[in-house]
Amino acid sequence: MNNPLEHTWQSVMDQLKTWARINSPWAIHFNSGSCNGCDIEILATLTPRYDMERFGVKLQGSPRHADILICTGPVTRQARERLIRIYEQMPEPKFVVAVGSCALTGGAFQGCYNVMGGIDQVIPVDAYIPGCPPRPEAIIDGLVKLLGSLKADGAPERASEPPLAASVLEPSS
Ligand code: SF4
Repeated sequence: MNNPLEHTWQSVMDQLKTWARINSPWAIHFNSGSCNGCDIEILATLTPRYDMERFGVKLQGSPRHADILICTGPVTRQARERLIRIYEQMPEPKFVVAVGSCALTGGAFQGCYNVMGGIDQVIPVDAYIPGCPPRPEAIIDGLVKLLGSLKADGAPERASEPPLAASVLEPSS
């Protein structure tokens, strides 16, 4: 891209896209093995009482239209492949938020025969919201901090990207 006008135009378009993304992030919610406690808090967060839409966050049904993947629960063997598939279907740049102790580490389900651990054992995570379950205020705080980091950096840097082999590990006998 040698033309300076073209470079300026591209830069303006990139800034516009980042501005639009930060001010209207669409989110998809995935339960990879939660007891539903965290899911109820996420639903409460989206109600008019807590009004997540004031930050432009809108719940979206399709991963192809979503910017943020909100995950609850530990990752079970059955959910692993689906979680990876949903993550891969989301367009770049995409962000993952782990909600609740189980999504962070496996929590109450840690060590169960069919539990693989927290979300970051399977896909890269950008924001962690602890609690069992975290209250709507904590979920809002986590999402606002994620949006704040996007404003500061354009996009958060990830330390490393774990491999995303979509195969399901066979349970050990
Ligand atoms: S963190 Fe607590 S409420 Fe959330 S899925 Fe785990 S056990 Fe349930």
